[in-house]
Amino acid sequence: MEALGLPYAPGTAGPESWDCGSLVQSVYGRAGVALPGDQAGLFAVTTPVAPADVLPGDLVFLGTPEAGLGHVGIALDPRTMLAADARAGAVVVRTLPSDQVIGVGRPSLDGRAPVDVPGPGEGVLRMECGNTVYPPSYDGARQWGGYPNGLIPPSAMCPLGVGGHSLRCDAAAAYRAMSAAYAAAFGGPICITDSYRTYAAQVKLYGEKPALAAVPGTSNHGWGLAVDLCGGIQNFGTPQYAWMVANAGRFGFLHPTWADPGNGREEPWHWEYAGS
Ligand SMILES: [Zn+2]
Repeated sequence: MEALGLPYAPGTAGPESWDCGSLVQSVYGRAGVALPGDQAGLFAVTTPVAPADVLPGDLVFLGTPEAGLGHVGIALDPRTMLAADARAGAVVVRTLPSDQVIGVGRPSLDGRAPVDVPGPGEGVLRMECGNTVYPPSYDGARQWGGYPNGLIPPSAMCPLGVGGHSLRCDAAAAYRAMSAAYAAAFGGPICITDSYRTYAAQVKLYGEKPALAAVPGTSNHGWGLAVDLCGGIQNFGTPQYAWMVANAGRFGFLHPTWADPGNGREEPWHWEYAGS
């Protein structure tokens, strides 16, 4: 429960942020029980008990027939679990949707020989820690979810917790974790001026600043994968910019080469999510 409210960030294992598997691994590790640190590994080796017999501390595995295994948390009682939750973007106590509990396991029993883990059906995206995992993005092809650039429905993104800013959910979770770490160093969250940018906003900006703005429909802001930052980060050579250079990478954010000093279009404020 000490972790309640800390950010969710995929691939991290505390103490500043967690994912669902690493939180379970850490809790049981402190009690001297060694467990895997990912939802699939936990499902594979934890001895199951009947869901009706769930006790506090049991592992609860959520999933759907379409996506397969999609989450793991620690039961607090028959109706709630503690989990690092990708939809919530934080360690939360959440109710258990009874139609999504696909297994309950008890780590205090001896582990079992690993079993196959239910996976996603043909053409269905995997779920991890309660949210959909989008295919990795790479240079030149950042499209995801089938949405055109700048025309992503708000419901497909997640808030950054500041103003009305939002990004693709994995990028948003990583941003919140990065901002929490930044706050520990500077006493406040990262200052942000821009995140997801609609196609209409890209057209407007291009009309105003054609030398600076990306051609409409091509901006990484339009994929919900870029942020423009302030509070010192907007200038090369500040302590805040140096912190980003030293730390952004471990949260999956990078400063693109084209925006570095001497490459023609210097934009210290512009950072992109490249995945972890
Ligand atoms: Zn930008």
